[in-house]
Amino acid sequence: MLNKFPTHIICHYSEIALKGQNRIYFEKILKSNIKRMVDEIASGSIKKIERLRGRFLIHLTENGQHSTDIIQSTLQNVFGLAYFAFAYKTDSEIEIIKKDCVELLQRFDFTTFRVTARQINKQFPFSAQTLNEEIGAAVIAKLKKKVNLSAPEAICYIDVLEEATYLYTEKIKGQNGLPVGTSGKVVVMLSGGIDSPVAAYYALKRGMQVIYVHFHSVPLVSEASIEKVRDTVEVLKKYQLNAKLYLVKFAEIQQAIMVDSNPKLRVILYRRFMIKIAEKISKNENAKAIYTGEALGQVASQTIENIAVVEDAAELPVIRPLIGFDKQEIIRKAEEIGTYEISILPHQDCCTLYVPKHPATKARLQDVIKNEAVLDSDQLITRAIESAKIEIF
Ligand code: ATP
Ligand code: MG
Repeated sequence: MLNKFPTHIICHYSEIALKGQNRIYFEKILKSNIKRMVDEIASGSIKKIERLRGRFLIHLTENGQHSTDIIQSTLQNVFGLAYFAFAYKTDSEIEIIKKDCVELLQRFDFTTFRVTARQINKQFPFSAQTLNEEIGAAVIAKLKKKVNLSAPEAICYIDVLEEATYLYTEKIKGQNGLPVGTSGKVVVMLSGGIDSPVAAYYALKRGMQVIYVHFHSVPLVSEASIEKVRDTVEVLKKYQLNAKLYLVKFAEIQQAIMVDSNPKLRVILYRRFMIKIAEKISKNENAKAIYTGEALGQVASQTIENIAVVEDAAELPVIRPLIGFDKQEIIRKAEEIGTYEISILPHQDCCTLYVPKHPATKARLQDVIKNEAVLDSDQLITRAIESAKIEIF
């Protein structure tokens, strides 16, 4: 008898299958990410995770068999998975496979169907094509349904693996990407706005472990941006379980800049300080690059000239995954990952403090450096880092 609930999950990974020698390393991290993330929301669901050729087989406990909805939404956020399927274990005897397929499909309401078998067990005496035909014929005879190969309402997948044969009816799309933690560490500058959480998503998607840094001007402004950033990091935890957030006090630096510099250059000066501080934090954390949510031309500070002047302050690579995105595309992604609703809540951006209506759109590096020269940058930066608060999520 076929189990009432799926007993296994077959997980297919995406690019990591191509990674040659690194493959074992990638698989190990992906497997551990799957286990930790599922344990976090539905502890005791996984009996074990087996690594088969090119895929994982998750064995579900009875608890897990009853928690498929939350397990599904969790696995959909595990980077590195191309797709997965909740599966039923059957036999390697063709008559039993037939019976179980009929029983499984009987649980659904449909008129047209297709059988899609995959056969990688050398001991199994039938080809995938024979299975498709034989099982298809049984379903037609027993359930009086019609075959439609190109657009069926129901699909009966049969995976004949070395160890056992599994049935399922749905392939669930994963996030693709690379397992978080396989590409090293980066610092993401998180502002409280819409863009930077999306930049963080793209860092995580390529396997980066992310450390968040937020600059705030409390007590000159309210704590709203800090609250928003905390909530955003909570949301992004669905991709990376453990996160670290640096909250850096920026008011003193802003006041020093206000006293001594050309108002038109203030935003650029703020940004250069932010980058330098983010870089110091990166070095302490052994992070290899800095991510920002900048998109070309979106606001005055994001012209190519100003980006170049800000970039000059950094030694590490500054990565801007959204550089070619339209605002609408960024918003769509922010909605999809669940950060948009938080980002649009009101807060006063620290970069708007003491800033004129028309800041420089084409700042010149020599002017900026001249303005910076009168500031005690090293001390300001050291003090900001020393007073930073670290929160662990
Ligand atoms: P966002 O929507 O992320 O705020 P934005 O389009 O409003 O981006 P800016 O405010 O010009 O752009 O900021 C550009 C980038 O600089 C941000 O995406 C973020 O990475 C970084 N940044 C700006 N302000 C802060 C801040 N207060 N703390 C940390 N990073 C910041
Ligand atoms: Mg902003």
